[in-house]
Amino acid sequence: MARDYYGILGVAKNATDQEIKRAYRKLARELHPDVNPSEDAQHRFGEVTTAYEVLSDPQKRKVVDLGGDPMDSGARGAGGGDPFSGFGGLGDIMDAFFGAAGGGGGRGRGPRSRVQPGSDALIRLGLTLEECATGVDREITVDTAIVCDLCRGAGAAEGTGTKTCDTCGGAGEVQSVQRSFLGQVVTARPCPVCRGFGEVIPDPCRQCGGDGRVRARRNVTAKIPPGVGDGMRIRLSGQGEVGPGGGPAGDLYVEIDEAPHEVFVRQGNDLHCNFRIPMTTAALGATVPIETLIDGDYELDIEPGTQPATELVLTAKGMPRLRSSGRVDGRGDLHVHIDVVVPTKLDDAQRDLLVELAQQRGEDVPSLSSNGSKPGGLFSKLRTKNHR
Ligand SMILES: [Zn+2]
Ligand SMILES: [Zn+2]
Repeated sequence: MARDYYGILGVAKNATDQEIKRAYRKLARELHPDVNPSEDAQHRFGEVTTAYEVLSDPQKRKVVDLGGDPMDSGARGAGGGDPFSGFGGLGDIMDAFFGAAGGGGGRGRGPRSRVQPGSDALIRLGLTLEECATGVDREITVDTAIVCDLCRGAGAAEGTGTKTCDTCGGAGEVQSVQRSFLGQVVTARPCPVCRGFGEVIPDPCRQCGGDGRVRARRNVTAKIPPGVGDGMRIRLSGQGEVGPGGGPAGDLYVEIDEAPHEVFVRQGNDLHCNFRIPMTTAALGATVPIETLIDGDYELDIEPGTQPATELVLTAKGMPRLRSSGRVDGRGDLHVHIDVVVPTKLDDAQRDLLVELAQQRGEDVPSLSSNGSKPGGLFSKLRTKNHR
């Protein structure tokens, strides 16, 4: 069954585009979720937005006038009741406030709307590497514009309203005629008295001074997913500033400011750390506990004969891999760079032990190694370079 779009907006079937727009704006101000958070209001806000979308589009309005329902074709998809469920809803509202719906060049210039969409806001959020890895719900205080609760965004003092501007007669612009050698030149500029709105507020709201919004501090919970990194921005839809005249709020962007970690260095989704082991451990091998970033202790196997600068890779012990969809898809690796520490302070007994070891291994008389024996060794590299 076709819905009664005219009834939802409370306008007559022969209403003009202006009347439809005016009726929608009036209802939107009363029902906007920032003003009226009740569920019933949200539902009705969705309804009137849909009704406006239909009736402001000449094609769709024609379908309605023929007894059909242009929104029943399935084009709108599910969830049409929630005006903030996606870009569709918000875009519709913006169109309404901009008067762009059903566009086309034929529309007269007319006064501009007092109701404008709000701007986006950006705040920086400092996180430790651990918080970036696990994700975190963080309550943040934002200082933004909200709808003035006294006038509900209308900007007029209680019991009063707006009045058509005398200077421009409601057109929002004034014209001046100049004579030049080309003939008469008519130029239009925004009306200086009403600033192009076409209407004035004789008795502005005492709380917001007619702007329809006031500054306020409020708390917002930002859900930070695991795997975020320095400079990444999380968008909180509709949590930015409310626009002039109580217009729809912009978005709030939370930019991640990742603090450097004492132990781990991040490279994309991989983590790197240095791990110092004594020379004896490197030679004999051992299993040693190593503290990972978020997985607790890990038993690291050091093979006997481990060389300095050996790199051990612990698969999937790095950062969660956050996709642009917001989903986590696996994890990066943890690279452990082994640093072999040669003892510097030896007492006599230790020194004797090492001397004995060296004698047994025939290492007590170090010699220069013949440098051609190892392809790709330090000197062969140097030589190739010099010959080029
Ligand atoms: Zn106010
Ligand atoms: Zn004016």
